[in-house]
Amino acid sequence: MKSCFLKRSLLTLALMALSLANPLAHAEGFITRLLNHPVPGGVAVVDLGEGTSAPDARYEGKPVLRIREDDQRWIAIVGIDLKTAPGRQQLLVNGQPLAFTVESRHYKEQHIKIKDSRKVDPLAEDLKRINREMAEQNSAYAVFSPDQPSNLLFDLPVDGPLSSPFGLRRFFNGKERNPHSGLDFAVGAGTPVKTPAAGKVLLTGNLFFNGNTVFIDHGQGLISMVCHLSEIDVKKGQVLPRGAVVGKVGQTGRATGPHLHWNVSLNGNRVDPSIFIGRYTP
Ligand code: ZN
Repeated sequence: MKSCFLKRSLLTLALMALSLANPLAHAEGFITRLLNHPVPGGVAVVDLGEGTSAPDARYEGKPVLRIREDDQRWIAIVGIDLKTAPGRQQLLVNGQPLAFTVESRHYKEQHIKIKDSRKVDPLAEDLKRINREMAEQNSAYAVFSPDQPSNLLFDLPVDGPLSSPFGLRRFFNGKERNPHSGLDFAVGAGTPVKTPAAGKVLLTGNLFFNGNTVFIDHGQGLISMVCHLSEIDVKKGQVLPRGAVVGKVGQTGRATGPHLHWNVSLNGNRVDPSIFIGRYTP
């Protein structure tokens, strides 16, 4: 993976050299080409220009991830909520509006049969727990720590085939529930789950829908969540090097069989993880 990254970086440098022939153009760097898929549930990469330090950039009132691409220009990497309508959106950069456009993307439907009907129509006592866990998870997703992520081309959390994609409109026992907020991997129970980039454990626990869950803060509002684990091997506050094992694949919570579910969140919005592993298809 590292040498692949190096090759692509060299390619980017070559493209930059070519673009010097036209002083008005600047080459799109590797990260822009990898991540810029501005659709509902996608990521917009917005050029912020040159400068010695990162400009302040906000979307929906929240700070966004900024990095320097190719040691030259600043870019903002913005997570777009799945419910966003296609059209114009804006960032506030040092207080000034900067527009970008969200394109449309079609998401398919998925119908799932769940034996435990309580996981589809929770009891009143379950709702109390669900709401408490929702609040806990939302505050984990809202964390914005200053460090830049170690890598934006993520490592796979498990080595295995992708199963359910992000964004599917889901019907459990015929009833529409929240769309699929992450990406599933079809891997056997007990497979070690690794953090896709360095990070810090924000939250662990056994949640009603997600089962055994680990939240990892990669920095600047980029957060991974892995769930349905059979066991959790890390503790809240633990600092993880890239590739550290956080737990094992299982089928705890609302799951029809063992698999890994992986969420990626950016500025508080769940986005398609396939973007960060170079597997995005429109
Ligand atoms: Zn899933």
